[in-house]
Amino acid sequence: MILMSPYEEKKIFKLRIVYNKKGCTAAGHCVLSDPFNFTLDKNFEAVLVDGKPMPNIEGVWYKDIETDSPHLPINASKTCTPKVIAIIDRETGKRIAP
Ligand code: SF4
Repeated sequence: MILMSPYEEKKIFKLRIVYNKKGCTAAGHCVLSDPFNFTLDKNFEAVLVDGKPMPNIEGVWYKDIETDSPHLPINASKTCTPKVIAIIDRETGKRIAP
């Protein structure tokens, strides 16, 4: 059995969240999964908190984060029914969700 010290440092993940608002069907699963990075506007469509518009791609937003809780945005991506949220590992350049 491996015991982790409570003082052991957590791994920090460098991720990019990419969100295509044009495909949002306003169900809100992303907000329930990751309330730190998603909220809803007055039309109940998701907003990527502090997101930046993707250059030259209208309606697409992105945000680079460093987090020890990657499961939050990953769950937001996986629970989004129309799959309009992508999570990219910035260290490998690979898409890790959905
Ligand atoms: S889970 Fe997807 S469809 Fe639902 S509000 Fe969030 S972005 Fe929109």
